[in-house]
Amino acid sequence: MTVGAGMKIRPRSISISSGKGGTGKTMLTANLGIALGNLGRDVTILDGDLAMANLAIVMGMHKCEINFLDVLAGKAEISDAVYKNYNIKVVPTGFRFEGIHDVLADLKKERVEKSMGELLHQTEFLLIDAPAGIADSTIISIAAAREMIPITNPTYTSLVDCYKTVRLANVLGAWTRGLVVNRVGRAADLSLEDIEHFMSKALGAMPILADIPEDPKVLEAEREGVPVVVYEPECPASAAINELAKVVTGESDLPYTPSAEHEIDETIRRLTRALTGRRA
Ligand code: ADP
Ligand code: MG
Repeated sequence: MTVGAGMKIRPRSISISSGKGGTGKTMLTANLGIALGNLGRDVTILDGDLAMANLAIVMGMHKCEINFLDVLAGKAEISDAVYKNYNIKVVPTGFRFEGIHDVLADLKKERVEKSMGELLHQTEFLLIDAPAGIADSTIISIAAAREMIPITNPTYTSLVDCYKTVRLANVLGAWTRGLVVNRVGRAADLSLEDIEHFMSKALGAMPILADIPEDPKVLEAEREGVPVVVYEPECPASAAINELAKVVTGESDLPYTPSAEHEIDETIRRLTRALTGRRA
């Protein structure tokens, strides 16, 4: 895939992150990506969960011969690992037990730089499905993106984990506009007011960008191998995600200009540094 002549370059890289697994990162990455695509945006979603990759499964893509690990390992070009589905671009990561640490240890700076540069130059939004926790691979995925959208469930433990993730992002220099609360509406949940109060008190202004209800259609869609915003566009979870897409596209309060060329270079440098631990 090459960059089309005259293509408008306004890349924004956003990691979707949480403290623990199971909060809905992969669900949100896939569906927010498609929702942004439906708004006419040029979107790429990348499976940054190198060890527990399943973004392709949620996207209903079971046969991807070449994936992101092959690119990192130098066995393929990034353009070979970009697949089109539901009108957006998807970079899947392979499922394998061995090799992730070897691949990361053996990473060539130039290779990462080239492939990330190519990804960013041919898209407007790069959403990264980040792994949970604060392991190396999580740090990579968060540091790789300029922005982070933390996702939490409305429970106290999930919220504390989310808080830690935002703190980590701050350390890594990724900017957080606000958080997403997912699976809202079950008994004994924290209220949205409590969540916003807790986060804002701990972190300064930290508004809830979207509250996505607990919705049986999400699991139904997952069973069918179709992202929920496609499977049931009108259901409550899809409606909340479509609204979130509009919030995300609002650029008036971004602390940087996404269209500036030097920003791309800086993002590539950040990605490279995060992936290789070395300065570009
Ligand atoms: P993560 O990537 O953070 O580990 P997933 O996106 O895989 O989490 O979601 C975990 C599980 O929760 C999945 O089975 C998913 O379908 C389900 N799920 C996520 N969000 C919702 C929701 N709003 N309503 C119902 N089920 C949900
Ligand atoms: Mg996941």
